[in-house]
Amino acid sequence: MKKYILDLTITQLKNILKTKVSQEYVFSQILDWIYVKKVISFKDFTNISKKLKEKLDEIFILRTLKIIKKEQSKIDGTTRYIFQTSDKKYFFAVLLSSKEKNSICISSQIGCPVMCSFCSSGKVKYIRNLTKGEILEQILQIENDTKKRISRVLFMGMGEPTLNINNVTLVLNSLLSNKEFGIGKKHITLSSVGNVPVIKKLADSRFGVRIALSLHATDEKQRRKLIPNNFGFSINDILDAGKYYLKKTNSRLTIEYILVKDINDSIASAHKLARLLKHHELINSNMQVNLIPFNFINNTQFKTSKSESIQKFKNMLKLNKIIVNIRQAKGIDIKAACGQLGY
Ligand code: SF4
Repeated sequence: MKKYILDLTITQLKNILKTKVSQEYVFSQILDWIYVKKVISFKDFTNISKKLKEKLDEIFILRTLKIIKKEQSKIDGTTRYIFQTSDKKYFFAVLLSSKEKNSICISSQIGCPVMCSFCSSGKVKYIRNLTKGEILEQILQIENDTKKRISRVLFMGMGEPTLNINNVTLVLNSLLSNKEFGIGKKHITLSSVGNVPVIKKLADSRFGVRIALSLHATDEKQRRKLIPNNFGFSINDILDAGKYYLKKTNSRLTIEYILVKDINDSIASAHKLARLLKHHELINSNMQVNLIPFNFINNTQFKTSKSESIQKFKNMLKLNKIIVNIRQAKGIDIKAACGQLGY
């Protein structure tokens, strides 16, 4: 069986090719075709000998995913992709383009075991983790499809990335490596509902990417309602992990807070959130709160907060010197917005 080249690390690839590629510069050319020029066939490796191209084609495959559906928002141009894996499973990625940057929201799992009650991905039965190659190929496929260069990667698609941390770690290596994707750490954000030990491990790693913690609530009961499988860590544990992450990395931390009408959008909740952030010494220029108005999904009782409540919530945080943004829904007409990635 052919090996999926994107699943391999540079060292693994080098080992496989050691009897076939003796010169370092030829190996660098191969990497360049895969990750920089992003070609989809070994035939297109034009500066490589015919014999070596045939050998590569015999041993490896470059792509395993198929784009089976692509929809573009008429409102803002956001594009939602459905990918099919080689074992015929389905998952999503979203391209968010602006004049300045092209961001991609990628999936790390098929289905999501966390099962947040406000999220369509949480309603899809968990099947398996995506491999390193399958995570990276989302970027390459979308770049091939659009001829745009992705400059920002958000681990905010289907799945909880910290539950697939071994593959996600390999992906981070690839994204940050100048021989592969060469994307700066400030342009990579990993989100988690609060897998505390993994957040702390990431804090101790050399990656230093941005972290988004999906807090969504200010008391445990409220939080369990929104995130049933929340790893059992308390809000205090999660905010402590956030503080540790900032201290160790000097990176940027975002606290994500979905606003659901009459569940967690009261002014008292805003006040409590400000108190919690203050108590954990998280009110500083490296921390911001993203308020996400709930986006409609099927089979839920939840409703979107009134714009007046959203504004009041925001003002209360601002009053407490917290940097706060209201996240504008992107691709809402094609179910590509936050929490809408389901079948
Ligand atoms: S919000 Fe994230 S963690 Fe929660 S179900 Fe959706 S994909 Fe999973």
